[in-house]
Amino acid sequence: MSCDTKPIGLFDLHCDTITECSLQNQPLRENSLHLSLGRGRAYLPWMQCFAVWLPDEIRGAEAVGYFDRVLRRFQQECQCNDDWMLPCRCAQDLQMARQQGKCGAVLTVEGGAVLAGEISRVKLLAEQGVRMLTLTWNGSCEIGDGAMVEHPKGLTAFGKLAVPELERYGMVIDVSHASDPLFDDVAALAARPFVASHSNSRAVCQHPRNLTDQQFVTIRDRGGLVGLNFYPPFLTASPQASLDDLLRHTEHFLALGGQDTLALGSDFDGAQMPQSIAGIQSMGQIWEHFVKFGYPHPLLEKIFFKNAWKFFVSL
Ligand SMILES: [Zn+2]
Repeated sequence: MSCDTKPIGLFDLHCDTITECSLQNQPLRENSLHLSLGRGRAYLPWMQCFAVWLPDEIRGAEAVGYFDRVLRRFQQECQCNDDWMLPCRCAQDLQMARQQGKCGAVLTVEGGAVLAGEISRVKLLAEQGVRMLTLTWNGSCEIGDGAMVEHPKGLTAFGKLAVPELERYGMVIDVSHASDPLFDDVAALAARPFVASHSNSRAVCQHPRNLTDQQFVTIRDRGGLVGLNFYPPFLTASPQASLDDLLRHTEHFLALGGQDTLALGSDFDGAQMPQSIAGIQSMGQIWEHFVKFGYPHPLLEKIFFKNAWKFFVSL
């Protein structure tokens, strides 16, 4: 890999690494996971969303306790790696992480169960530094139904309270994992731009976790973001996924006018990866593959960093 083809910055909207660090008791600094601080530093400026993932099996007080445990792990990692990472709650924090050559760590939650059906928890989560909430995982929660629910419904009465409350506290609404009716309800209710942090194109790969063209265009028109996901079943229906499959999704979204909407949502440590992607250390090869296909550097800079950077520094 030659130096001139390395990404000029990396902004990844979704990984589950901090959850895995907590569950497997692995350090964030160096580890056997898809992502470590040591390997990610090759791409500075590097901004990384770290999701606390909530399994669908736990709800209520159990979900809150689980979140609190992973949050503590995130805080501990930030403390003992303060030479390499900086927790980012606002635009100034992101700017500071960039200036100081540190990973800008954005705390997110994957699963509305974290609210445990209590609207007052939105404020608490904002105070704890959570900047984005994926409203559901695959199943149902207090907010509404996820993409893998049979005959799904949209937002519940509580979900309809939660959306404006999240916006009030500046938390980004993430519709990755949302069912189609939930997406529609969010689009009707949200006043601010919203994102799909780690979802691909359903026109390219027919999977309920992927976005329809209409959904992508809605997110684009609202000034939101869509992060490309590397999980093979979202890339292709065939057993082996390749970087060409990732290109097909990118091409499709670009054809829909997505040059200012597209970003990355790797799903590192939340999903199996294609053979050609070992972890965050493979981002240079992905960049190089896109360069070989003919994408100009300014476009790649948008996808790898600038679109998400612009979005998060203007929150
Ligand atoms: Zn996910």
